[in-house]
Amino acid sequence: MAEPLIRIEGVSKRFGDFAAVDDVSLDIVEGEFFALLGPSGCGKTTLLRMLAGLEVPTEGRILIDGQDMAGVGPNKRPVNMVFQSYAVFPHMTVEQNVGYGLRIDGVPEKERRTRVHDALALVKLDGFETRKPDQLSGGQRQRVALARALVKRPRVLLLDEPLSALDAKLREAMRSELAIIQDKVGVTFVMVTHDQDEALAMACRCGVMNKGVLQQVANPSDLYEYPANRFVADFIGSVNLFEGRLVQDLAAQALIEADGARVWVDHGVTGAEGGTVWAALRPEKIELAHREPDAPPPALAPGTPEGANLLAGTVRHFSYLGSETVYEIEVAGGRMVKVLRSNVRRYEDRGFDTDQPVWLSWSPQSPAVLLS
Ligand code: ATP
Repeated sequence: MAEPLIRIEGVSKRFGDFAAVDDVSLDIVEGEFFALLGPSGCGKTTLLRMLAGLEVPTEGRILIDGQDMAGVGPNKRPVNMVFQSYAVFPHMTVEQNVGYGLRIDGVPEKERRTRVHDALALVKLDGFETRKPDQLSGGQRQRVALARALVKRPRVLLLDEPLSALDAKLREAMRSELAIIQDKVGVTFVMVTHDQDEALAMACRCGVMNKGVLQQVANPSDLYEYPANRFVADFIGSVNLFEGRLVQDLAAQALIEADGARVWVDHGVTGAEGGTVWAALRPEKIELAHREPDAPPPALAPGTPEGANLLAGTVRHFSYLGSETVYEIEVAGGRMVKVLRSNVRRYEDRGFDTDQPVWLSWSPQSPAVLLS
């Protein structure tokens, strides 16, 4: 990995006895779009505020571009922040709002005009120069705030839940817009969000936090496919967790006996040492088949041990969501398993109705095995 632009080294922040951020170490490279993701109260905003210089770490250090930020005030750091409420000055026009910081910095008028013009073009607000904020939509006001932050050409832009004040439809449209803008300007973005879809859709890498502790740092698909623990597996998307123990562990295969299921995986499990493990199975990785009295169960991967990766169940509920259908299936012991089925080829099959007997099966590649 390239030399990090931001280095967070063993940073903690305590408010009294309470650790809002607990021993976080993290590198962010130049040009990355990094998302800090986690549930409300996990400490992500506090970490962002420490990067901005609005909070002082209780322990650890923060380096930006190799320089220790201890004692460096917010306006002396090569960072700029866009807040949740995207505060823009109501009495100023769009152009005055965006140019405000440059004027304070004494940037000559000619250069200021060019930079403001470029920043407005970047966020697709050219033509809106003379409007006041109350003549703009929420999404346009958010873009003014973004242009105002970017016009100062910070090395790092910190974004605190930048899309949360927008309605659902606009938020989705702004996701790709913001990612495209970041890609164009190449400024390092660090965004805080509690919305996992937002983080996965926009960021190059995400850091997942819970209770002040950084749980995992990875790119979106690795977070989803290889979650480090149950918290991440559950927080990122939807998951079926089977708690059990390892009964066979070879270098390239392992068998887990879980509550009512035998799970065979095509990789060894290191570090389990007789303790509890969890097999995490994403709903879309489970195959559904009709279960009829005289018909054999579906064929499984060659070498699958007896009774593994196969469950008999009964459909209890299904939700048709257009592009996909989510099934709630009851298996032995009254346990409910969630299965997601794409409707791409729906016209070719008859689907599955409530109370219908079904087989659930999965490939040995599908489950992730978690140790905590
Ligand atoms: P949200 O998404 O709800 O903003 P968050 O993950 O960003 O949550 P933080 O705002 O970082 O969480 O807060 C983390 C914890 O630290 C919370 O329990 C919060 O109450 C606490 N906290 C934050 N600031 C202070 C403060 N100044 N004094 C005391 N406790 C604080």
